[in-house]
Amino acid sequence: MTVTYEEALQRYEPVFGLETHVELGTTTKLFCGCPAVFGAEPNSRVCPVCLGLPGSLPAANRRAIEYTIKIGLALHCGIASWCRFARKNYFYPDMPKNFQISQYDEPLCTDGYLDVLVGGRTVRVGIERVHLEEDTGKSLHVGGATGRIHGAEYSLVDYNRAGIPLVEIVTKPVPGTGFGAPGVAKAYVTELRDLLRSLGVSDVRMEEGSLRCDVNTSLSVRGSGVWGTRTETKNVNSLRSVERAVRSEIERQAAVLDGGGRVIQETRHFHEDTGVTTSGRSKEEAQDYRYFPEPDLVPVAPPAEWVEEIRASLPELPSARRARLQAQWSLSGLEFEALHNAGAVGVVEETVLAGASPADARKWWLGELARRANDAGVDVSSLPITPQAVARVAALVASGTLNDRLAREVIDGVLDGEGTPDEVVAARGLAVVSDEGALTAAVDEAIAANPGVAARIRDGKTSAAGVLIGAVMKATRGKADAARVKALILERLT
Ligand SMILES: [Zn+2]
Repeated sequence: MTVTYEEALQRYEPVFGLETHVELGTTTKLFCGCPAVFGAEPNSRVCPVCLGLPGSLPAANRRAIEYTIKIGLALHCGIASWCRFARKNYFYPDMPKNFQISQYDEPLCTDGYLDVLVGGRTVRVGIERVHLEEDTGKSLHVGGATGRIHGAEYSLVDYNRAGIPLVEIVTKPVPGTGFGAPGVAKAYVTELRDLLRSLGVSDVRMEEGSLRCDVNTSLSVRGSGVWGTRTETKNVNSLRSVERAVRSEIERQAAVLDGGGRVIQETRHFHEDTGVTTSGRSKEEAQDYRYFPEPDLVPVAPPAEWVEEIRASLPELPSARRARLQAQWSLSGLEFEALHNAGAVGVVEETVLAGASPADARKWWLGELARRANDAGVDVSSLPITPQAVARVAALVASGTLNDRLAREVIDGVLDGEGTPDEVVAARGLAVVSDEGALTAAVDEAIAANPGVAARIRDGKTSAAGVLIGAVMKATRGKADAARVKALILERLT
Protein backbone atom coordinates (compact mmCIF):
# COMPACT_ATOMS: atom_id res chain seq x y z
CA MET A 1 0.00 0.00 0.00
CA THR A 2 1.11 3.55 -0.57
CA VAL A 3 0.49 6.59 1.59
CA THR A 4 0.88 10.12 0.29
CA TYR A 5 3.03 12.57 2.16
CA GLU A 6 -0.04 14.62 3.14
CA GLU A 7 -1.85 11.55 4.52
CA ALA A 8 1.23 10.45 6.44
CA LEU A 9 1.50 13.84 8.12
CA GLN A 10 -2.14 13.73 9.24
CA ARG A 11 -1.47 10.66 11.40
CA TYR A 12 2.23 10.82 12.20
CA GLU A 13 4.75 13.31 13.49
CA PRO A 14 8.20 12.87 11.91
CA VAL A 15 11.39 13.06 13.96
CA PHE A 16 14.69 13.26 12.13
CA GLY A 17 18.36 13.54 12.98
CA LEU A 18 21.47 13.92 10.89
CA GLU A 19 24.97 12.54 11.10
CA THR A 20 27.27 14.52 8.87
CA HIS A 21 30.81 13.51 8.01
CA VAL A 22 33.19 16.24 6.92
CA GLU A 23 36.67 15.65 5.55
CA LEU A 24 38.97 18.26 7.02
CA GLY A 25 41.15 20.27 4.67
CA THR A 26 44.40 19.61 6.51
CA THR A 27 47.63 19.26 4.53
CA THR A 28 48.35 15.81 5.92
CA LYS A 29 46.34 12.85 7.21
CA LEU A 30 45.16 12.42 10.80
CA PHE A 31 47.82 10.04 12.11
CA CYS A 32 50.64 10.15 9.54
CA GLY A 33 52.42 12.59 7.23
CA CYS A 34 50.80 11.44 3.97
CA PRO A 35 49.24 14.27 1.94
CA ALA A 36 45.47 14.47 2.32
CA VAL A 37 44.45 15.06 -1.30
CA PHE A 38 41.52 14.13 -3.53
CA GLY A 39 41.92 12.43 -6.89
CA ALA A 40 45.54 11.25 -6.81
CA GLU A 41 46.74 8.05 -8.51
CA PRO A 42 45.24 5.15 -6.46
CA ASN A 43 47.41 3.97 -3.55
CA SER A 44 50.03 6.66 -4.16
CA ARG A 45 49.37 8.60 -0.92
CA VAL A 46 49.98 5.88 1.61
CA CYS A 47 52.57 4.83 4.22
CA PRO A 48 52.96 2.07 6.84
CA VAL A 49 50.76 3.97 9.32
CA CYS A 50 47.71 4.52 7.10
CA LEU A 51 48.14 1.03 5.58
CA GLY A 52 48.04 -0.38 9.12
CA LEU A 53 51.32 -2.28 8.72
CA PRO A 54 52.57 -4.12 11.84
CA GLY A 55 54.75 -2.04 14.11
CA SER A 56 53.67 1.34 12.76
CA LEU A 57 52.42 3.88 15.30
CA PRO A 58 50.00 6.81 14.83
CA ALA A 59 50.62 10.37 16.03
CA ALA A 60 47.70 12.84 16.10
CA ASN A 61 47.64 15.83 13.74
CA ARG A 62 47.44 19.03 15.84
CA ARG A 63 45.77 20.99 13.03
CA ALA A 64 42.97 18.40 12.77
CA ILE A 65 42.28 18.76 16.49
CA GLU A 66 42.32 22.55 16.15
CA TYR A 67 39.81 22.38 13.26
CA THR A 68 37.52 20.07 15.25
CA ILE A 69 37.56 22.45 18.22
CA LYS A 70 36.86 25.32 15.82
CA ILE A 71 33.80 23.50 14.46
CA GLY A 72 32.67 22.68 18.01
CA LEU A 73 32.97 26.30 19.11
CA ALA A 74 31.11 27.57 16.03
CA LEU A 75 28.32 25.11 16.94
CA HIS A 76 28.23 26.46 20.53
CA CYS A 77 29.50 23.17 21.97
CA GLY A 78 31.43 22.59 25.16
CA ILE A 79 35.02 21.47 24.51
CA ALA A 80 36.39 18.53 26.50
CA SER A 81 39.47 19.39 28.54
CA TRP A 82 40.55 15.75 28.33
CA CYS A 83 39.38 12.99 26.01
CA ARG A 84 40.61 9.90 24.21
CA PHE A 85 40.47 8.25 20.83
CA ALA A 86 38.79 4.84 20.71
CA ARG A 87 39.07 1.80 18.47
CA LYS A 88 35.93 0.88 16.59
CA ASN A 89 36.38 -2.73 15.56
CA TYR A 90 34.86 -4.09 12.39
CA PHE A 91 36.09 -5.79 9.26
CA TYR A 92 35.86 -4.04 5.94
CA PRO A 93 38.22 -4.41 2.95
CA ASP A 94 38.76 -0.66 2.62
CA MET A 95 39.90 -0.41 6.24
CA PRO A 96 43.43 -1.78 6.44
CA LYS A 97 43.73 -2.14 10.23
CA ASN A 98 40.30 -3.78 10.61
CA PHE A 99 39.53 -1.13 13.15
CA GLN A 100 38.89 2.57 12.77
CA ILE A 101 40.38 5.10 15.17
CA SER A 102 37.41 7.19 16.23
CA GLN A 103 35.96 8.66 19.38
CA TYR A 104 33.28 6.92 21.37
CA ASP A 105 32.20 7.92 24.87
CA GLU A 106 34.65 10.84 25.07
CA PRO A 107 34.01 13.11 22.09
CA LEU A 108 35.97 16.35 21.77
CA CYS A 109 32.85 18.58 21.56
CA THR A 110 29.36 18.09 23.02
CA ASP A 111 25.98 19.74 23.43
CA GLY A 112 25.64 22.68 21.05
CA TYR A 113 23.22 23.98 18.45
CA LEU A 114 22.90 25.44 14.99
CA ASP A 115 20.23 28.00 14.09
CA VAL A 116 18.67 27.35 10.71
CA LEU A 117 16.62 29.80 8.66
CA VAL A 118 13.64 28.17 6.97
CA GLY A 119 10.36 29.64 5.78
CA GLY A 120 11.36 33.01 7.20
CA ARG A 121 11.76 31.67 10.75
CA THR A 122 14.64 30.28 12.75
CA VAL A 123 14.67 26.64 13.86
CA ARG A 124 17.27 25.67 16.46
CA VAL A 125 18.78 22.24 15.76
CA GLY A 126 20.52 20.72 18.77
CA ILE A 127 24.00 19.26 18.32
CA GLU A 128 24.68 16.11 20.33
CA ARG A 129 28.38 15.75 19.62
CA VAL A 130 31.26 16.56 17.29
CA HIS A 131 34.08 14.03 17.19
CA LEU A 132 37.20 13.30 15.18
CA GLU A 133 38.01 10.04 13.40
CA GLU A 134 39.95 8.69 10.45
CA ASP A 135 38.32 8.11 7.08
CA THR A 136 38.39 4.69 5.44
CA GLY A 137 39.78 3.85 2.01
CA LYS A 138 37.51 3.45 -0.99
CA SER A 139 36.30 0.28 -2.70
CA LEU A 140 35.56 0.28 -6.39
CA HIS A 141 33.29 -2.52 -7.59
CA VAL A 142 33.86 -3.23 -11.25
CA GLY A 143 31.60 -4.93 -13.77
CA GLY A 144 28.15 -4.50 -12.18
CA ALA A 145 25.42 -2.18 -13.40
CA THR A 146 24.98 -0.23 -10.17
CA GLY A 147 28.55 0.19 -8.95
CA ARG A 148 27.58 -1.77 -5.85
CA ILE A 149 29.22 -5.03 -4.85
CA HIS A 150 26.22 -7.10 -5.96
CA GLY A 151 26.75 -8.20 -9.54
CA ALA A 152 30.34 -6.94 -9.67
CA GLU A 153 33.06 -9.09 -11.29
CA TYR A 154 35.81 -7.90 -9.00
CA SER A 155 36.64 -5.10 -6.57
CA LEU A 156 39.59 -2.72 -6.28
CA VAL A 157 40.59 -0.84 -3.19
CA ASP A 158 42.30 2.54 -2.95
CA TYR A 159 43.81 3.53 0.42
CA ASN A 160 44.57 7.16 -0.43
CA ARG A 161 41.55 8.26 1.61
CA ALA A 162 42.40 5.99 4.56
CA GLY A 163 43.46 8.19 7.44
CA ILE A 164 42.14 11.51 6.12
CA PRO A 165 40.72 13.37 9.13
CA LEU A 166 36.97 13.15 9.30
CA VAL A 167 34.74 15.07 11.69
CA GLU A 168 31.37 13.59 12.53
CA ILE A 169 28.68 16.05 13.57
CA VAL A 170 25.63 14.42 15.15
CA THR A 171 22.41 16.32 15.79
CA LYS A 172 19.99 15.63 18.59
CA PRO A 173 16.66 14.26 17.34
CA VAL A 174 14.61 17.09 15.80
CA PRO A 175 10.87 16.74 16.57
CA GLY A 176 8.07 19.20 15.97
CA THR A 177 8.83 20.35 12.44
CA GLY A 178 5.86 18.40 11.03
CA PHE A 179 5.13 19.02 7.38
CA GLY A 180 8.33 21.00 6.99
CA ALA A 181 10.67 18.24 8.26
CA PRO A 182 12.34 17.49 4.89
CA GLY A 183 12.88 21.21 4.27
CA VAL A 184 14.38 21.76 7.73
CA ALA A 185 16.74 18.80 7.23
CA LYS A 186 17.92 20.27 3.94
CA ALA A 187 18.23 23.76 5.43
CA TYR A 188 20.33 22.34 8.29
CA VAL A 189 22.83 20.72 5.92
CA THR A 190 22.95 23.89 3.80
CA GLU A 191 23.60 26.02 6.88
CA LEU A 192 26.20 23.58 8.19
CA ARG A 193 27.96 23.59 4.82
CA ASP A 194 28.03 27.41 4.75
CA LEU A 195 29.33 27.47 8.32
CA LEU A 196 32.12 24.97 7.62
CA ARG A 197 33.08 26.88 4.51
CA SER A 198 33.27 30.16 6.42
CA LEU A 199 35.51 28.45 9.00
CA GLY A 200 37.90 27.37 6.23
CA VAL A 201 38.18 23.84 7.67
CA SER A 202 36.93 21.87 4.65
CA ASP A 203 36.13 22.36 0.98
CA VAL A 204 32.67 20.85 1.78
CA ARG A 205 32.11 19.41 -1.70
CA MET A 206 29.22 16.98 -1.49
CA GLU A 207 29.87 15.74 -5.03
CA GLU A 208 33.43 14.73 -4.09
CA GLY A 209 32.31 13.22 -0.80
CA SER A 210 34.04 15.71 1.49
CA LEU A 211 30.61 16.34 3.05
CA ARG A 212 28.43 13.26 3.48
CA CYS A 213 25.15 12.82 5.32
CA ASP A 214 23.31 9.98 6.96
CA VAL A 215 19.68 10.79 7.72
CA ASN A 216 17.79 9.19 10.60
CA THR A 217 14.02 9.25 10.36
CA SER A 218 11.25 7.92 12.59
CA LEU A 219 7.52 8.47 12.94
CA SER A 220 5.53 8.96 16.07
CA VAL A 221 1.76 8.50 16.13
CA ARG A 222 0.33 11.99 16.56
CA GLY A 223 -0.52 12.71 20.16
CA SER A 224 1.07 9.49 21.49
CA GLY A 225 4.28 11.13 22.67
CA VAL A 226 6.10 7.86 21.88
CA TRP A 227 8.88 7.96 19.29
CA GLY A 228 8.97 5.22 16.71
CA THR A 229 11.84 3.05 15.50
CA ARG A 230 14.28 4.96 13.36
CA THR A 231 16.00 4.02 10.14
CA GLU A 232 19.33 5.40 8.95
CA THR A 233 19.59 6.39 5.28
CA LYS A 234 23.27 6.30 4.34
CA ASN A 235 25.43 8.61 2.25
CA VAL A 236 22.87 11.04 0.95
CA ASN A 237 25.07 12.99 -1.39
CA SER A 238 23.31 16.20 -2.37
CA LEU A 239 21.23 18.84 -0.62
CA ARG A 240 18.23 17.94 -2.71
CA SER A 241 18.63 14.28 -1.79
CA VAL A 242 18.56 15.13 1.94
CA GLU A 243 15.09 16.57 1.47
CA ARG A 244 13.90 13.74 -0.76
CA ALA A 245 15.30 11.03 1.52
CA VAL A 246 13.42 12.32 4.58
CA ARG A 247 10.22 12.68 2.61
CA SER A 248 10.50 9.24 1.07
CA GLU A 249 11.16 7.61 4.47
CA ILE A 250 8.13 9.37 5.99
CA GLU A 251 5.91 7.99 3.22
CA ARG A 252 7.42 4.50 3.42
CA GLN A 253 7.24 4.20 7.20
CA ALA A 254 3.67 5.52 7.26
CA ALA A 255 2.67 2.82 4.78
CA VAL A 256 4.35 0.13 6.91
CA LEU A 257 2.63 1.35 10.09
CA ASP A 258 -0.76 1.81 8.42
CA GLY A 259 -0.52 -1.75 7.12
CA GLY A 260 -0.10 -3.00 10.68
CA GLY A 261 3.61 -3.68 10.22
CA ARG A 262 6.52 -2.47 12.25
CA VAL A 263 9.49 -0.36 11.17
CA ILE A 264 12.76 -2.26 11.40
CA GLN A 265 15.86 -0.55 12.72
CA GLU A 266 18.20 -0.76 9.75
CA THR A 267 20.36 1.21 7.38
CA ARG A 268 18.83 2.08 4.04
CA HIS A 269 20.22 3.30 0.73
CA PHE A 270 18.79 6.31 -1.03
CA HIS A 271 18.52 6.05 -4.82
CA GLU A 272 18.93 9.34 -6.68
CA ASP A 273 17.16 8.06 -9.79
CA THR A 274 13.93 6.82 -8.18
CA GLY A 275 13.91 9.00 -5.06
CA VAL A 276 13.19 6.04 -2.76
CA THR A 277 15.22 4.12 -0.18
CA THR A 278 15.85 0.39 -0.13
CA SER A 279 16.87 -1.84 2.74
CA GLY A 280 20.58 -2.11 3.56
CA ARG A 281 21.69 -4.09 6.57
CA SER A 282 20.19 -4.34 10.03
CA LYS A 283 21.78 -1.69 12.19
CA GLU A 284 24.63 -2.64 14.48
CA GLU A 285 24.42 -1.69 18.11
CA ALA A 286 27.35 0.14 19.66
CA GLN A 287 28.39 -3.00 21.55
CA ASP A 288 28.90 -4.83 18.25
CA TYR A 289 31.92 -2.63 17.59
CA ARG A 290 33.77 -3.58 20.80
CA TYR A 291 34.97 -0.04 21.35
CA PHE A 292 37.95 0.41 23.65
CA PRO A 293 40.36 3.28 24.30
CA GLU A 294 43.08 3.49 21.64
CA PRO A 295 46.29 2.37 23.39
CA ASP A 296 48.69 3.77 20.78
CA LEU A 297 47.66 7.42 21.25
CA VAL A 298 47.99 9.75 24.21
CA PRO A 299 44.79 11.46 25.45
CA VAL A 300 43.83 14.77 23.86
CA ALA A 301 43.91 17.53 26.48
CA PRO A 302 43.56 20.94 24.79
CA PRO A 303 44.70 23.69 27.19
CA ALA A 304 41.98 26.26 27.98
CA GLU A 305 44.15 29.11 26.63
CA TRP A 306 44.46 27.34 23.29
CA VAL A 307 40.68 26.85 23.09
CA GLU A 308 40.19 30.56 23.84
CA GLU A 309 42.72 31.44 21.15
CA ILE A 310 40.75 29.36 18.65
CA ARG A 311 37.50 30.98 19.81
CA ALA A 312 39.00 34.43 19.22
CA SER A 313 40.03 33.40 15.70
CA LEU A 314 36.48 32.49 14.62
CA PRO A 315 35.22 34.60 11.68
CA GLU A 316 31.78 36.20 11.68
CA LEU A 317 29.46 33.18 11.47
CA PRO A 318 26.84 32.94 8.70
CA SER A 319 23.89 33.32 11.10
CA ALA A 320 25.40 36.47 12.65
CA ARG A 321 26.21 37.86 9.23
CA ARG A 322 22.66 37.15 8.11
CA ALA A 323 21.17 38.94 11.11
CA ARG A 324 23.49 41.92 10.54
CA LEU A 325 22.74 42.25 6.82
CA GLN A 326 19.01 41.69 7.29
CA ALA A 327 18.93 44.57 9.77
CA GLN A 328 21.18 46.82 7.66
CA TRP A 329 19.08 46.25 4.57
CA SER A 330 15.75 46.50 6.47
CA LEU A 331 14.43 43.21 5.12
CA SER A 332 11.89 40.78 6.55
CA GLY A 333 12.96 37.19 7.23
CA LEU A 334 11.23 35.98 4.09
CA GLU A 335 12.76 38.71 1.92
CA PHE A 336 16.20 37.85 3.20
CA GLU A 337 15.60 34.16 2.71
CA ALA A 338 14.69 34.80 -0.94
CA LEU A 339 18.10 36.42 -1.41
CA HIS A 340 19.75 33.58 0.49
CA ASN A 341 18.01 30.88 -1.56
CA ALA A 342 18.92 32.66 -4.80
CA GLY A 343 22.57 32.57 -3.70
CA ALA A 344 22.62 36.36 -4.04
CA VAL A 345 23.56 37.54 -0.52
CA GLY A 346 27.25 37.87 -1.35
CA VAL A 347 26.76 39.75 -4.62
CA VAL A 348 24.16 42.06 -3.11
CA GLU A 349 26.52 42.82 -0.22
CA GLU A 350 29.32 43.68 -2.65
CA THR A 351 26.98 45.78 -4.78
CA VAL A 352 25.97 47.77 -1.71
CA LEU A 353 29.65 48.15 -0.77
CA ALA A 354 30.22 49.48 -4.30
CA GLY A 355 27.75 52.28 -3.58
CA ALA A 356 24.30 51.02 -4.59
CA SER A 357 21.33 51.26 -2.22
CA PRO A 358 20.28 47.88 -0.75
CA ALA A 359 16.92 48.24 -2.51
CA ASP A 360 18.54 48.81 -5.91
CA ALA A 361 21.06 46.00 -5.42
CA ARG A 362 18.27 43.62 -4.48
CA LYS A 363 16.07 44.73 -7.35
CA TRP A 364 18.68 44.05 -10.03
CA TRP A 365 20.08 40.79 -8.64
CA LEU A 366 16.72 39.23 -7.76
CA GLY A 367 14.95 40.59 -10.86
CA GLU A 368 16.67 41.00 -14.19
CA LEU A 369 19.87 39.16 -13.27
CA ALA A 370 18.13 36.22 -11.56
CA ARG A 371 16.05 35.84 -14.72
CA ARG A 372 19.19 35.81 -16.91
CA ALA A 373 20.89 33.31 -14.59
CA ASN A 374 17.81 31.11 -14.68
CA ASP A 375 17.69 31.23 -18.51
CA ALA A 376 21.37 30.30 -18.66
CA GLY A 377 21.00 27.62 -15.97
CA VAL A 378 23.77 29.08 -13.79
CA ASP A 379 24.02 30.60 -10.31
CA VAL A 380 23.38 34.32 -10.25
CA SER A 381 26.85 34.86 -8.79
CA SER A 382 28.51 33.20 -11.79
CA LEU A 383 27.01 35.61 -14.35
CA PRO A 384 29.77 37.54 -16.18
CA ILE A 385 28.89 40.82 -14.52
CA THR A 386 30.55 42.20 -11.39
CA PRO A 387 28.74 43.72 -8.39
CA GLN A 388 30.67 46.93 -9.19
CA ALA A 389 29.16 47.01 -12.69
CA VAL A 390 25.67 46.49 -11.26
CA ALA A 391 26.28 49.31 -8.78
CA ARG A 392 27.36 51.55 -11.68
CA VAL A 393 24.18 50.72 -13.65
CA ALA A 394 22.11 51.57 -10.56
CA ALA A 395 23.99 54.86 -10.23
CA LEU A 396 23.37 55.72 -13.89
CA VAL A 397 19.64 55.10 -13.37
CA ALA A 398 19.61 57.17 -10.18
CA SER A 399 21.30 60.09 -11.93
CA GLY A 400 18.81 59.98 -14.79
CA THR A 401 21.40 58.99 -17.41
CA LEU A 402 19.58 55.68 -17.95
CA ASN A 403 15.98 54.62 -17.56
CA ASP A 404 15.14 51.03 -16.62
CA ARG A 405 14.74 49.91 -20.21
CA LEU A 406 18.09 51.35 -21.24
CA ALA A 407 19.68 49.92 -18.09
CA ARG A 408 18.57 46.45 -19.14
CA GLU A 409 20.25 47.03 -22.51
CA VAL A 410 23.43 48.10 -20.75
CA ILE A 411 23.32 44.91 -18.70
CA ASP A 412 22.90 42.97 -21.97
CA GLY A 413 26.04 44.62 -23.28
CA VAL A 414 28.06 43.91 -20.14
CA LEU A 415 26.93 40.27 -20.11
CA ASP A 416 27.90 40.03 -23.81
CA GLY A 417 31.42 41.13 -22.93
CA GLU A 418 31.21 44.62 -24.45
CA GLY A 419 32.96 46.22 -21.48
CA THR A 420 32.02 48.32 -18.47
CA PRO A 421 28.57 49.92 -18.21
CA ASP A 422 30.02 53.31 -19.26
CA GLU A 423 31.71 51.72 -22.28
CA VAL A 424 28.46 50.02 -23.28
CA VAL A 425 26.50 53.29 -22.89
CA ALA A 426 29.03 55.08 -25.14
CA ALA A 427 29.37 52.30 -27.73
CA ARG A 428 25.64 51.64 -28.07
CA GLY A 429 24.60 55.27 -27.65
CA LEU A 430 22.22 54.36 -24.86
CA ALA A 431 22.13 57.43 -22.64
CA VAL A 432 18.81 59.10 -22.01
CA VAL A 433 18.30 62.21 -24.17
CA SER A 434 19.22 64.88 -21.68
CA ASP A 435 19.54 67.67 -24.25
CA GLU A 436 16.54 69.78 -23.18
CA GLY A 437 16.29 71.37 -26.64
CA ALA A 438 15.99 68.03 -28.44
CA LEU A 439 13.49 66.79 -25.88
CA THR A 440 11.34 69.96 -26.15
CA ALA A 441 11.34 69.64 -29.93
CA ALA A 442 10.18 66.04 -29.71
CA VAL A 443 7.41 67.03 -27.26
CA ASP A 444 6.23 69.85 -29.53
CA GLU A 445 6.18 67.48 -32.49
CA ALA A 446 4.10 64.95 -30.56
CA ILE A 447 1.59 67.66 -29.55
CA ALA A 448 1.32 68.89 -33.13
CA ALA A 449 0.78 65.37 -34.45
CA ASN A 450 -1.96 64.57 -31.87
CA PRO A 451 -4.17 67.66 -31.64
CA GLY A 452 -7.15 65.69 -30.27
CA VAL A 453 -5.17 64.30 -27.38
CA ALA A 454 -3.64 67.70 -26.68
CA ALA A 455 -7.13 69.17 -26.48
CA ARG A 456 -8.26 66.60 -23.92
CA ILE A 457 -5.23 67.32 -21.75
CA ARG A 458 -6.05 71.05 -21.95
CA ASP A 459 -9.54 70.12 -20.71
CA GLY A 460 -7.96 68.59 -17.62
CA LYS A 461 -7.70 64.92 -18.68
CA THR A 462 -4.00 64.68 -17.78
CA SER A 463 -4.16 60.87 -17.88
CA ALA A 464 -4.26 61.17 -21.68
CA ALA A 465 -0.64 62.37 -21.53
CA GLY A 466 0.44 58.72 -21.82
CA VAL A 467 -0.26 58.78 -25.55
CA LEU A 468 2.06 61.77 -26.03
CA ILE A 469 4.76 60.27 -23.77
CA GLY A 470 4.59 57.13 -25.90
CA ALA A 471 5.04 59.19 -29.06
CA VAL A 472 8.08 60.99 -27.61
CA MET A 473 9.61 57.70 -26.44
CA LYS A 474 9.11 56.32 -29.95
CA ALA A 475 10.72 59.37 -31.53
CA THR A 476 13.73 59.11 -29.19
CA ARG A 477 13.89 55.32 -29.51
CA GLY A 478 13.20 54.85 -25.82
CA LYS A 479 16.00 57.12 -24.68
CA ALA A 480 13.91 59.78 -22.98
CA ASP A 481 13.31 60.11 -19.26
CA ALA A 482 9.56 59.48 -19.10
CA ALA A 483 9.03 61.60 -15.98
CA ARG A 484 10.78 64.57 -17.59
CA VAL A 485 8.73 64.17 -20.78
CA LYS A 486 5.50 64.14 -18.81
CA ALA A 487 6.54 67.29 -16.97
CA LEU A 488 7.30 69.04 -20.28
CA ILE A 489 3.94 68.03 -21.78
CA LEU A 490 1.98 69.25 -18.77
CA GLU A 491 3.99 72.47 -18.68
CA ARG A 492 2.85 73.20 -22.20
CA LEU A 493 -0.77 72.10 -22.06
CA THR A 494 -2.02 72.99 -18.57
ZN1 LIG B 1 50.16 7.54 5.66
